[in-house]
Amino acid sequence: MNEILKMIENYNQIALYRHVNPDLDAFGSQFGMYWTLKEMFPQKNIILQGKMDSDLLHLYPEYEVNTINKEPILAIVLDTANKERIDGDISICDKILKIDHHIVIDSYGDINVEIENASSCSEIVALMFKELEYKLPIKAAQALYLGIIGDSNRFLYSSTSAKTFEAASYLIDTGINIENLYQSLYLKKKSDLEITKFIYNHYQEDGGVAWYYLSSENLKALNISREQGSNYVNTLANIEEYPVWMAVTQNEVDHNYRVSIRSRSIAINEIANLFHGGGHAYASGATLQSLDELNLLIEKLKEKINERNV
Ligand code: AMP
Repeated sequence: MNEILKMIENYNQIALYRHVNPDLDAFGSQFGMYWTLKEMFPQKNIILQGKMDSDLLHLYPEYEVNTINKEPILAIVLDTANKERIDGDISICDKILKIDHHIVIDSYGDINVEIENASSCSEIVALMFKELEYKLPIKAAQALYLGIIGDSNRFLYSSTSAKTFEAASYLIDTGINIENLYQSLYLKKKSDLEITKFIYNHYQEDGGVAWYYLSSENLKALNISREQGSNYVNTLANIEEYPVWMAVTQNEVDHNYRVSIRSRSIAINEIANLFHGGGHAYASGATLQSLDELNLLIEKLKEKINERNV
């Protein structure tokens, strides 16, 4: 932490990056860092990088879109395993500090804080400031708490450790209202029921793998974005017969198909790697060029399930 603080202190301009398709942990660690550094170093120019067009953004009120000045820039890249997945242009920065909890595939930072067994990047960021005994601003604590909740599925996944609760306890001590946070996450709309109904009516299955497919037409009819379409992946979770489940959505803009893969006790990240993807052992993402590739992906996943059954 001292080495990191020294690095931060050396720069008047700090750009905070995270991965494309941001989730609660990507935003949580980015906004947690943003509000904390802004409070700790009010004279520095702290800039949020990456597209700000997600419907998760209502969870992070009142951020500013600062413009970059001519001074040298330190990049802090959060929750991003490899350089290709960084949302924004990193080449404008002098030095890079990487903070991440994914399986290490690319240590692209000048300093790399890579803790593979942390539940979330937000957990790492929270514990970094705890080490400094710094009392976080409420907005930072809320963002980080949501990040931990998102990636650990509210402390359910096996990545949840004593450290996760230590981070949560430190965040709760700032006075955040977790009931309000949970409502902001879990309160559903009637339209969610329609989407869930569609998934239950149309999901498919093959040898332990369950998945739903949302074409561009389906997404339009359900009035949701491609990203929102993937967010329902856990509608198929916790079914004994399906140790692996997926959301497949058509990406009309990029002319491909995005797959969110989730599993119970079956490592799927290496299979995701084969399909332009990656991620965690039990939660990975992949991109398919055609629906034919989906059959291949399913075959690979079935092989993996069968290995376990042998
Ligand atoms: P998703 O299904 O997109 O929510 O992704 C699940 C997890 O895998 C998230 O932690 C992502 O950051 C990670 N992930 C998704 N796609 C990739 C990729 N192409 N390379 C590395 N990690 C990924």
